[in-house]
Amino acid sequence: MTALQLTVVVPCFNEAEAIETFHTTLIAALGPLGGELEICYVDDGSTDGTRLLLGGLAAMDKRVRYTAFSRNFGKEAAMLAGLRMSRGAAVVLMDADLQHPPELIPRMLELHRHGYDQVIPRRDRTGDGVLRNALSHTYYALVRRCMDVEVLDGSGDFRLLSRRAVESVLSLPESNRFSKGIFSWIGFDTVSFRYRNRERAAGQSKWGSKRLLNYGIDGLLSFNNRPLRLAIYTGFWVFVSALAYALWTIVNVLLNGADTPGYATLLTAVVALSGIQLVTLGVIGEYVGRIYHEAKHRPPYVVRETSESCPALPGKPEPVATGELSELASGRSRTLRQFASFVLIGCVNTAVYMAVYYVLNQRIPYLAAHAVGFTVSFIGSFLLNSYITVGTRPTWRGFARYPLSSVINLVASGALLHLAVSGLDMDKNVAALAAGVLVTPFSFLLARWAITSGRGTDAQPDRPDGSRAEPSAIRSDSR
Ligand code: UDP
Ligand code: MG
Repeated sequence: MTALQLTVVVPCFNEAEAIETFHTTLIAALGPLGGELEICYVDDGSTDGTRLLLGGLAAMDKRVRYTAFSRNFGKEAAMLAGLRMSRGAAVVLMDADLQHPPELIPRMLELHRHGYDQVIPRRDRTGDGVLRNALSHTYYALVRRCMDVEVLDGSGDFRLLSRRAVESVLSLPESNRFSKGIFSWIGFDTVSFRYRNRERAAGQSKWGSKRLLNYGIDGLLSFNNRPLRLAIYTGFWVFVSALAYALWTIVNVLLNGADTPGYATLLTAVVALSGIQLVTLGVIGEYVGRIYHEAKHRPPYVVRETSESCPALPGKPEPVATGELSELASGRSRTLRQFASFVLIGCVNTAVYMAVYYVLNQRIPYLAAHAVGFTVSFIGSFLLNSYITVGTRPTWRGFARYPLSSVINLVASGALLHLAVSGLDMDKNVAALAAGVLVTPFSFLLARWAITSGRGTDAQPDRPDGSRAEPSAIRSDSR
């Protein structure tokens, strides 16, 4: 059991103007804690001398420890590093600009002693502009409707977490982190109270409107798949409307004879459908991007240096420790090998696809020929990639997931093909080949994910000794 009562984690990015005032105010507020306190600063790749100031603070005060990143990795990564460093029975996360008042910490500790695992001070909106206020309210209303977890208006990252809450946060492996959602997702007894919003003590906010917008989109997409559902519903209703319109036209022709409909209707329908398709593609793309990001298994940050008083903690993995480098390298070469195999198998499948496409293209519309060719090569692709690329027995679960990668692939390559043929006037056969090449890296990551994700050790791609799992017929997944 740790003797430290409290760890304060402070992410800092270009906070040279504010950091010393912050430190003095914090120490003044937490004086009574004495040696039971530690302060973990994380320098998120500052360029203004923050790192040197942190080094100075660590040299002066034994309770100060710091980690400095090799570049700016973002506040989420900095908070993660701080939580990994922390050893206290309770951990307070707070900003370095004094917008999170240190005077509130004793009250937070008091509530923690009453048994709460999360204590959240929620700021009011004093001092916010009217527009920002309105946007924030709308965003939180949207988040409440869409997200599978609850995020309270005004609750930021400023909070106290008990040790078991911290361990739960650290146990989540995702690298695309949205802490507000994660904190809510882990649950535990939570209490919040209001405090008056404050201005920054010094320096500038690092959150421009573009960064805020991206963060907002990240939040909405990280904790639910409703945008995908919305795309499905929209597609369904558009289809039903089109069917109704077609029926109406037929009935009209039967009753009133043939009429020449104006092409404005046609154009409107085409433009509306293209819009819906583009939005849907964008939504799918966002999720694919996330899968791609997670599939790379990159560490969330790279450490440049840590304070002398901060040796590696047992059981807490340092982000890129030397021992992990060789593991990373071997993981990378395995991925390369798998990719080469995937490309080879892809060539075989592309040949099959092209043959089918070429033959059918002369009889049916080229997009239909594309879809048929794609389907024919699908089953072969799944089996060959399971046995050869990933080196594992195919499962029904993998087989059920595989179409997802293919559907995304089909839509993306179909869109590219359509663009190339109708937009760039390319030859249909060349266009199909080009579209296939362009979507290959995404296909590889998605296919590997479909074959391996959510399975036990038997799904490990290559065994360390280079051996492979015995191929056998498709089996039912045990879970
Ligand atoms: N921060 C960080 N990395 C970043 C951006 C910000 O560590 O890339 C830190 C920053 O130093 C501060 C906290 O996150 O301690 C909140 O940042 P800021 O005050 O700019 O955000 P705002 O209060 O305007 O939302
Ligand atoms: Mg701030």
